[in-house]
Amino acid sequence: MNDTFPAIVALSAALTVSGLRAGQAPPLVLVGWGIDAKAPDAFLARAEATGFQVLIAWSTDREFLGRAVEAGGRHNIRVFACISPMGGLANLWTRRYPERPVPWQVMTEAENAARSFLMAGRNKYIIPYQFGGEPTMANEVLETRIVCLRNPSARELLRLQIDGIAAVPGLEGLAFDGFGYQNYRRCHCEDCVAAFAAYRREHPDMADDAAEVTFFRDALVECIQDLANYARSRREDLRTTIHIWPVFQPEPLYGNRLDVDFCGQTAAWYTLWPQDKIARYSQVIAAEARRYYPRPQGVGMIGYYDRPGEFPVKDAARVDLELRTMIENGCRRIQVCGARDVMDNESVAAVFRKYFR
Ligand SMILES: [Zn+2]
Repeated sequence: MNDTFPAIVALSAALTVSGLRAGQAPPLVLVGWGIDAKAPDAFLARAEATGFQVLIAWSTDREFLGRAVEAGGRHNIRVFACISPMGGLANLWTRRYPERPVPWQVMTEAENAARSFLMAGRNKYIIPYQFGGEPTMANEVLETRIVCLRNPSARELLRLQIDGIAAVPGLEGLAFDGFGYQNYRRCHCEDCVAAFAAYRREHPDMADDAAEVTFFRDALVECIQDLANYARSRREDLRTTIHIWPVFQPEPLYGNRLDVDFCGQTAAWYTLWPQDKIARYSQVIAAEARRYYPRPQGVGMIGYYDRPGEFPVKDAARVDLELRTMIENGCRRIQVCGARDVMDNESVAAVFRKYFR
């Protein structure tokens, strides 16, 4: 037995999972976030014409998902359903446990003050706010509240949502959105503080900073992984995907620590990243997708909103540059958010058609 054997086994497992032989690039696939809940059939027809092969619905409603899957059958589009530890989960919590407050993540006073400032008037559109992408300001936080991912009852509710999703015939998979920390680092709730203190005692040799990063990163990974494993236990062929958001600031590209089928990580954010950063991130997303597990395919995420005055304008030439950079640097599967913004802008839709139709 020599040392190269395990490496060969891991490599052949990776190639078997993706159904590829060495040297073959996987086909380019375009995945979009969002499906029009009012008219899924017309929306999917337009999506097919734009080059989308997969759409992710921000919904756990079985009736709607059933209609979306049906429309997907007519338009060659596979449908994923998304769970998120944000407002929808909080509503479910309030219905289930009307006596118990929603276990929101807890932030510091300074972080809460920053959030209040962001939420006032049009502030977030005036300052260089990154909307959950890599922050550029001190104390930048996500405006949207997130439920503490360590809370066992919240975890149960997410499992319940997965049960419902797994029961939709023909649904391709489960997507994760919003799994992260509101302050991009950690949660300060009583439970998290106590669990971290115990971890500190068990790891006396770790520096404070390193211990905090490792503990809260691993807690995030554990939560997502637990739910992805649960989804597979409900339906073996249910695929799993994610967009890593909000950012985990100490390690933005931690996504390859997750054993999911399609790991989406930001390659080109809504704000205009320099091209060399898009190239560098795309390389890591694609080439290091299987650093820890043979299953995942790396997915580059491009943010596109056609909302002048709220988000920086990306014209067709800019979108072309970003997509080309992602593809040239190894991303074969690309997520865009939002699908509707792409389809509603004819010159930008044409750029996507060029690559994906
Ligand atoms: Zn917490």
